[in-house]
Amino acid sequence: MPMFSNLNDAKDRDANDPLSGYRSLFFHPDPDLIYMDGNSLGKLPIASRDTLSNLIDRQWGDRLIRSWNEGWLDMPQRIGEKISSLIGAAPSEVIVADSTSVNLFKLIVASLTHQAPRKKILTDSLNFPSDIYIIQGTIKMLNQNHSLIMIPSEDEIHGPEEDIIEAMDENTALLTLSHTVFKSGYTYDIEKLTSKAHEKGIMVLWDLSHSVGALPIHLNTHYIDMAVGCTYKYLNGGPGAPAFLYVNERISHTLGNPISGWMGQKDLFDFSTNYTPTADISQFLTGTPPILSLAPIEKGVDIILDAGIDKLREKSLAQTQYLIDLWEQILKPLGYHLKSPLNPVYRGSHVSLGHPEGMGIDLALINDHHIIPDFRAPDNIRLGVSPLYTTYEEIYRTVLALEHIVNTQSYLKYKNDQPTVT
Ligand SMILES: *Cc1c(COP(=O)(O)O)cnc(C)c1O
Repeated sequence: MPMFSNLNDAKDRDANDPLSGYRSLFFHPDPDLIYMDGNSLGKLPIASRDTLSNLIDRQWGDRLIRSWNEGWLDMPQRIGEKISSLIGAAPSEVIVADSTSVNLFKLIVASLTHQAPRKKILTDSLNFPSDIYIIQGTIKMLNQNHSLIMIPSEDEIHGPEEDIIEAMDENTALLTLSHTVFKSGYTYDIEKLTSKAHEKGIMVLWDLSHSVGALPIHLNTHYIDMAVGCTYKYLNGGPGAPAFLYVNERISHTLGNPISGWMGQKDLFDFSTNYTPTADISQFLTGTPPILSLAPIEKGVDIILDAGIDKLREKSLAQTQYLIDLWEQILKPLGYHLKSPLNPVYRGSHVSLGHPEGMGIDLALINDHHIIPDFRAPDNIRLGVSPLYTTYEEIYRTVLALEHIVNTQSYLKYKNDQPTVT
């Protein structure tokens, strides 16, 4: 049995981790809780609580409407600028607004309009359901005979990259995919797919929700047309925090916002009755920004910028590899399947394990072991590594718990239960 399989080894790894200090910037009110779900809802940064209490007491409580001119109005741009350096975009190419789903809608409509008369929208079966629903709803709303081509993944783990490339043709308007897919954590070769799409005149729209803050992204270097992404996962922006939207400067003047509201209007306070969009990325704003949800994103992003995205990626890969090595040694013989890519090049920052008793195991982890994973039907136990605060010891203890649950069959207790939101 290899050397790494013991608690002291896990503790040594934590002691030698150059990023270990970042954990203390987050709240851990229950020191015994092992949180393996930072890929779904990131932890609360201590600085964000201070930001919020200042926002409530001083900015809202005392300054009231004056605060719009004291840092509120430009918050969508300011936080967008910070996010831009995490995703390799220019500061003027990113804005924070609305949810990922709504931003997808805006950019899908904008690009389909631009790409007329092309009719095909390409995606894969691994894409996030909301993304697929938005495409379906948009097709219905536009009523112009667009069609969705959903390329299946053979093993439901790896993205069907070659089949997608094969399906690209002169009638394809848009390719839209999750960069890192939500179930298996497969991460696409963004550069290869984008350049293949561009050869055929196809626009690309990447959903970076499960990538941003966990791995470096270079949108500008690869001429990515459009992207959206979530701020409440690895960016630790808080539940339901608004999402970001990126449009490459090269094409932004050719796209329009289908939800043309006053925040994207050129002279906001002219109250003109004719809509004239701003000439920059702020044209993709719609209504008044949700300041209370927006403000904490800034602190979450600051922490990542301080740690450095390349170093975070290095740690994330080391930790997912450690988890996969432990799976191979301890969990594979117990019937757990690896449902994430073995090749680190295609691996995001979470690892999915499948087991025929997956649902019961998930509930036993939560109820009996004080470990929070998440679960994606039918049998995916998703273990998120959030390199700012996940420790090797937590990973090791999670694997031991998974071993214990199967060895003692404690999952049988939960056979008839259903998990709630995890
Ligand atoms: C989490 C996630 C979303 C979330 O969208 P909301 O509009 O915030 O609900 C969208 N897309 C992907 C790929 C995600 O992982």
